[in-house]
Amino acid sequence: MSAYQSQPSEEDSETIIIPIDRSFSDGDPSTWPTEPRFGMPDDTWYREKLAVMWLKETGAYEEGANYAIDSLPEGYAVFDRPRWTNPDIRDRFLWGHPLGQYFQSTIQFFPHFLYLMKGGKEPCPCALCEKLAKKNQRTKDGLPTRPGRPTGYTPNPGKPGRPPGRPPGRPPGRPPGRPPGRPPGRPGRLGRPPGRPPANPIVDQEGTPDVFKMAIMKLKDKGELDEAISEPLSMDWKSERPGLGEYLQKLTMQPSYVPRAGEIVLWVPNFAGELAWNPQHERVEMYDPALDRFMGVPEWRAGIVGQVPEEDTVLQDLVETANKGWDVNYSGFRVETFPDPNSPDKSYSLQYKYVHLKCIKPFNAFELFLQNMPRDELHPSIEYAMTVMSSFSLLEKFHFRGRWPNASIYCMGMFIGAELLIVGDAVRLKPVGYSLNGGQKTVTDVMVIDEIRLDLIQCIDNIKSDQLAERYQVRIGGNVYTNNRQRAVTDNQMQPPKPLSPEEVLSVFQYIGMSGYKDWYSLNGGKTVDISQGMVIGRCYEPDAMRLLFGSLSLGRDLHGVMSGRQYSRQADERIPEGKDWFWGDFRTQTLAIETLNGEDVGHYSEGRDVKMWRANLKVIEGRATAADLREAKIPGELGRPSQKSRSAFGEVRKTSKLVSAGLGAAITDVSNNVSSADESNVQTRLNTEDEGEEESVEEEDFTLRLEDLRGGTEETEGGDYVPGNDERTAKRPKHDL
Ligand SMILES: [Zn+2]
Repeated sequence: MSAYQSQPSEEDSETIIIPIDRSFSDGDPSTWPTEPRFGMPDDTWYREKLAVMWLKETGAYEEGANYAIDSLPEGYAVFDRPRWTNPDIRDRFLWGHPLGQYFQSTIQFFPHFLYLMKGGKEPCPCALCEKLAKKNQRTKDGLPTRPGRPTGYTPNPGKPGRPPGRPPGRPPGRPPGRPPGRPPGRPGRLGRPPGRPPANPIVDQEGTPDVFKMAIMKLKDKGELDEAISEPLSMDWKSERPGLGEYLQKLTMQPSYVPRAGEIVLWVPNFAGELAWNPQHERVEMYDPALDRFMGVPEWRAGIVGQVPEEDTVLQDLVETANKGWDVNYSGFRVETFPDPNSPDKSYSLQYKYVHLKCIKPFNAFELFLQNMPRDELHPSIEYAMTVMSSFSLLEKFHFRGRWPNASIYCMGMFIGAELLIVGDAVRLKPVGYSLNGGQKTVTDVMVIDEIRLDLIQCIDNIKSDQLAERYQVRIGGNVYTNNRQRAVTDNQMQPPKPLSPEEVLSVFQYIGMSGYKDWYSLNGGKTVDISQGMVIGRCYEPDAMRLLFGSLSLGRDLHGVMSGRQYSRQADERIPEGKDWFWGDFRTQTLAIETLNGEDVGHYSEGRDVKMWRANLKVIEGRATAADLREAKIPGELGRPSQKSRSAFGEVRKTSKLVSAGLGAAITDVSNNVSSADESNVQTRLNTEDEGEEESVEEEDFTLRLEDLRGGTEETEGGDYVPGNDERTAKRPKHDL
């Protein structure tokens, strides 16, 4: 018996009440939420929606009439709770499914409703029943019940907790690299979080304007404000995917070459031998050292890292998988093939595999690994991934600070194109003035990220306005260093450059072994500098990893590739408005335009949304939309946007993000454009990095796309017997002609 009785008295007398079949229900009141924040609202609207869907399904629906079923199936009830970003709105869910999870909407529940009405005789196709079936199957097979790692779970007896194989070389007792000057209030715990890292820690859905709107009203009131934004961490879905903060904390402990969840990578499902440069074909091929024979090119694809290993990754894994205590589904990475962001067909997401690190390369270096391969022979996922190279999203906005009328929202990380960057990372910077057609330039500068901010300029204190500020800009702040002495001379001609001491290198960089890049010099007088996302090429890997991956310590081997990838993206990503440079997503799954990750639905619709729009969007996604649906799928925030090139219907759907639909989108895309261009001149002056004055012969960098220095076993290949860490030869690349 449902605890919440329907209230016929509130129903329109015109409403036709349809009695449901009560002979069968699997509803279980013991699964209902018990926390005090949950309330039980009137469920009339829910019963009305179900009635309409049911009648339409059976063909008995008549336009113009109002319908409602007499009650929800036994054991099911609607609960609501305040939305964390805006407690005035209460989101409503249906509870009672034996799995113990709620149905997000009537649409999600409807298949299950039909199943109940049919007496439960046929298997139920609803999402929760599918999950339940999988869970039961795993239990039956004696496997752990968590999804995603279905087979081969072989915990190491006698070694509880951490599997073996911690990367060597990290000095004991070193603090986990918290740079100074970080704003207070950062959530996060020291030490290793217990248990498995979250399966899906990157789906960051905070950022609806409401919580920030409230902060702005407070700022206006007080004149100054400096406070943590902690509420976003308490979202319901996050309780299902706990530990984003812990995951980010863990990232600061691991080497930078290790791929991170949510990153785009180049990968091969299968890989024989090792990679080596084939001089005959002038490309990277698989090589069998035992047979001394090249085995052809790997079938590279682009993919999204869905899960990272539970077992530690070590440097050697880059080329040859070290002995692992656990099977690949716990010691490897789950990588999903990248689907077409411009198409509703996401079936590539289903093509995933657990692979070890040697099967994965940084996507930023795609030009190096794919060189001299005919474009039409490349897997389509590679172009799909290039399509989102000019996307970014902010991760985990955790702090608000401002002095009226300006403010900043501080973030823990940021996805730029293929990579996730977090506070503490060292990132390589694009040489000022570099352009794809402008010839070669040496990459000399590295920034250690101290803060990632969304700046709100001229905040708007009108609660009704859907804008937070007149203008927005994204800024990455930190200290800049170079390993190029000449660059340091140019930076400060007043005094001879003084390299950082070994202790300073250790404290400046979170990563280990950075002194392998030779001397480091502080630039800009040691002062913090702001840059825009367009200045970032990618993470700076530890020198040993650079040698193993690229056979070189050059900081700019992927510069051309990253920049040409971004240029390609600007032409190919239908979500980037004409004339703009970046697509700004609310969260990573949106910039990637994926709907599932690790088999979990990462769509972001809720009952609080307009139901018509939601249904219309569903139809668009399913490819059965009518013209009216396309109209309804459109979002109010679209109004007033600059005119855009023609988009696929799907392109429209992808823009139903909260941030964008709230009207922020227009201003944001505008500014992200300004940021990358206007900002560069800004950086130019602030960094004082004008390239004049570099006449003195600096070691010229070679931007041809060869990888001859790649570790390999042939006579022709340099560095075949390369040992990480003590090969001076590879530090300086020989110059090659095109
Ligand atoms: Zn079901």
